[in-house]
Amino acid sequence: MIDRIVDLAADDGDAIEQELENTLRPKDFANYIGQERLKQNLKLAIAAAKKRGEPIDHVLLYGPPGLGKTTMATVIANEMGAQVRVTSGPAIERAGDLASLLTNLQDGDVLFIDEIHRLNRTVEETLYAAMEDFKLDIMLGKGPSARSLRLDLPQFTIIGATTRAGALAGPLRDRFGHIHRLEFYQPAEIQQIIERAADILDVKIKQEAAKELAKRARLTPRIANRLLKRVRDYADVNGDGIIDTTISDKALALLEIDELGLDPADRMLLVAIIDSYDGGPVGVETLAALTAEERSTIEDFIEPYLMQIGLLERTPRGRKVTAKTYTHLGKSQKGTNQSSLL
Ligand code: ADP
Repeated sequence: MIDRIVDLAADDGDAIEQELENTLRPKDFANYIGQERLKQNLKLAIAAAKKRGEPIDHVLLYGPPGLGKTTMATVIANEMGAQVRVTSGPAIERAGDLASLLTNLQDGDVLFIDEIHRLNRTVEETLYAAMEDFKLDIMLGKGPSARSLRLDLPQFTIIGATTRAGALAGPLRDRFGHIHRLEFYQPAEIQQIIERAADILDVKIKQEAAKELAKRARLTPRIANRLLKRVRDYADVNGDGIIDTTISDKALALLEIDELGLDPADRMLLVAIIDSYDGGPVGVETLAALTAEERSTIEDFIEPYLMQIGLLERTPRGRKVTAKTYTHLGKSQKGTNQSSLL
């Protein structure tokens, strides 16, 4: 797989990047920019739960990576005055792992489960029973002498995050009282996120440059923050540390990120559909083979943004590019190359 600055699948591997990401995470609704409808719904649910003196009902957040699901889970916990514990679907291997996580919670705690669609079947079944009535049935021993033990659990809240709500088993999905989709952000909101991050990181960025960066950040906060850091590096080395549009243009050109936020791998995908399949439709498996990416990478990370900005369409027969794609790539609809961006 290609190493990409816009790659959302990969966690920012090194500890310093991780630390920076945590520093930038908003802690409350006031600092969480955008997603207005989601915030309104959650504020109401939190106020109601507080009034009743109960924990908030389980919450499922879904949508492309980097849009703020983990951040929102922390915000909900903070607003509830609760503790949050963080885990992920693949990390909970056995029902016993889940049991130890749940029995260690206290009343009102939030358990955040990232990639909740990747829980295995046994764990999933144990979880939804626990979510329903705050009881945990565990089997002691094996064979004829096995007996089951019922444990009372604290009143906790599960916040699940997934890139694909459709991959979640029906009974699990049904246990969530609140199911919300995170939307791509507006460019103006991304600009605010960049300005807020610049403030926290003490980076000097001109308003015009923040606006320009916002256009190229795939409407995604994680990418916005990442671009800001890369452009800051460029400004520190090649300028006086102040980011203006000249610096940001040069830095983004070096990163090969174009004015719509596409990187070479996105362009390669679109060009492959045009050149090899006359613009499509083409099956997602073929795209995976053409680009050497996993099918899930294409579906979860690459496609959603390309569809959002109208460069790709999903049809029953596969993926198709649009007239806008030809224009953006400087190609004619007949397939003649006018100017190459690659
Ligand atoms: P997800 O869990 O959806 O993959 P995260 O919650 O990890 O996304 O968000 C990635 C980063 O983007 C966070 O570290 C945070 O700094 C930033 N971020 C996300 N949402 C917002 C927001 N609404 N306002 C400001 N920054 C945000």
